[in-house]
Amino acid sequence: METIVITGGAGFIGSNYVRLALAQTQARLVIVDKLTYAGNLSSLKDVSSNARFVFLEADIADATAMKNLFKDYEPSAVVNFAAETHVDRSIDGPHAFVNTNVMGTFVLLEAARKYFGSLIQEDKNRFRFHHVSTDEVYGSLGKTGAFTEQTAYAPNSPYSASKAGADHLVSAYFATYGLPTLITNCSNNFGPYQFPEKLIPLTILNALEGKPLPIYGDGSNVRDWLYVEDHCAGLLTALRKGKPGEKYNLGGLAEKTNLQVVDKICAILDSLRPLPQGKSHKDLKTFVKDRPGHDHRYAIDISKIKKELGWKPQYSFDSALEKTVEWYLEHKEWCENVQSGKYRRERLGLLERP
Ligand code: NAD
Repeated sequence: METIVITGGAGFIGSNYVRLALAQTQARLVIVDKLTYAGNLSSLKDVSSNARFVFLEADIADATAMKNLFKDYEPSAVVNFAAETHVDRSIDGPHAFVNTNVMGTFVLLEAARKYFGSLIQEDKNRFRFHHVSTDEVYGSLGKTGAFTEQTAYAPNSPYSASKAGADHLVSAYFATYGLPTLITNCSNNFGPYQFPEKLIPLTILNALEGKPLPIYGDGSNVRDWLYVEDHCAGLLTALRKGKPGEKYNLGGLAEKTNLQVVDKICAILDSLRPLPQGKSHKDLKTFVKDRPGHDHRYAIDISKIKKELGWKPQYSFDSALEKTVEWYLEHKEWCENVQSGKYRRERLGLLERP
């Protein structure tokens, strides 16, 4: 049986990927996760009894654990989602980002390289190391243009810099050691199981509780929004059909300002959970101090993956956003479970400049 190791599989995108990979492949999935505040086994509850599901609590920066992982499970692929992912947290505490995103990826690459070296040729031909990365490594765009796979890296936050460092290591392991790597860089994801510190779930939950909806700066920052199901389908396509050593950009073709996103969520909630006459969830919008070093605009050119691998997003932003809002309304227990730790939607990353 084919075995795929999925690191960070208890997080937002990872747990959605696990669900899709169980449905669309016959592979055994070995989920490796450190279960930080962002990793929750409750995100995998519905699939954890599947005979092809294995969960291992481990840190990708733990060399012994990673060595044993390859020895014990002999995977034919690794998909690396494990990361510290929240930009605001990276401003308050960059250390964990360098540890997991740079060192962790390095430790995982080293374990993969040694394991790969021990394989017979047929298994070498099949093996893939798929690293999941972000469009934030490319920095910020002006009013026009879009990131292509050739865009030079220019990360601005400790988060994006740590992801950029990891991407470079992955590329170097292909060039230097011939490890069959794939890198995918995607835009902002949204959908079920996203930890409620990110814009869309935070806005939904705050609006439902009548709390302020914080909008950084003037709300004009633009992100290209990708529905997580579309992203995961693209990741599986890249794993199956992608060419070793290549990188692929994935985006949702849905550029929106943060203000537009918040307004759309409020409009959906106004229809699903109407407030008393004359009131709107939009009344909760609150403009707050901008994030230090806030990238103004991201946009993704998906021509390469569309042309070479035949992937493009299937959902429209509006329909996927409606599905997402409905999911959060129906999964109150999950929201409560994942928030019962320290994090309670407080504002993070507000660096005071001297
Ligand atoms: P997430 O924060 O929801 O989940 C990250 C997961 O990694 C958690 O389950 C956490 O417990 C685990 N983890 C953290 N440190 C670990 C370690 N040292 N060892 C093992 N597990 C560890 O993140 P996400 O939004 O699902 O993002 C997944 C990947 O996709 C990340 O690599 C991220 O950089 C990338 N990405 C995310 C987005 C987005 O919009 N969410 C966009 C582009 C790229």
